This record gives sequence, C-alpha cells and structure tokens, in this order.
Amino acid sequence: MMLGEVILTLLVCIAILVIAAAVFGAWIIMMLVKMALGLMGLKRKSTRKPSDGLRVCSRRGCGHANPPQARFCSRCGMALEATQPSKMKRVAMF
Ligand SMILES: [Zn+2]
Repeated sequence: MMLGEVILTLLVCIAILVIAAAVFGAWIIMMLVKMALGLMGLKRKSTRKPSDGLRVCSRRGCGHANPPQARFCSRCGMALEATQPSKMKRVAMF
C-alpha cells in the first residue's frame, strides 16, 4: 500500500512537471511567433510609409519633400543633409 502511494505521488509530480513544461514551451513558441510577426509588421510599416524616405528641405519657406536619392532640393536647389540614410542604418542595425 505504501509503495503504491509513493509511486502514485511520483507519477502525479511527473505529470505536473510534463504539463508545466508543455505550457512553458507553448508560451515560448507563442512569444517567438509574436516577435516574428512584430518584426514583419515593422518592416511592412517602414516600407509602407513613403514620408520616411523623403528628404524635406531645411530652408525656411521651402520645406519641399524631395525623393530619398535627391542631394539637392528640386525647388530651391539647397543641399540636403544626409540624415535619412543614417536613420535607416540605425534601424537596420536593430
Ligand atoms: Zn528647398
């Protein structure tokens, strides 16, 4: 009788450990899926926003939005500061 009770309690403990491990594994998988979806969402957002790549002219009264490849403002001809590529590199680093 005593041996049976010990085996029963051991089995219950093992079952609890297995269930806990399964729940923990499922939680980790859920977290990984959420992270992957979040990364995909961030990439989609960065590509969807056209204003991120645009270079806005810093001259007062102009503020013209130039394409990201432009080195000079297409309206007033002022040299555009290369601030956008560095930001994109920082984002890519993450
Ligand atoms: Zn300009």
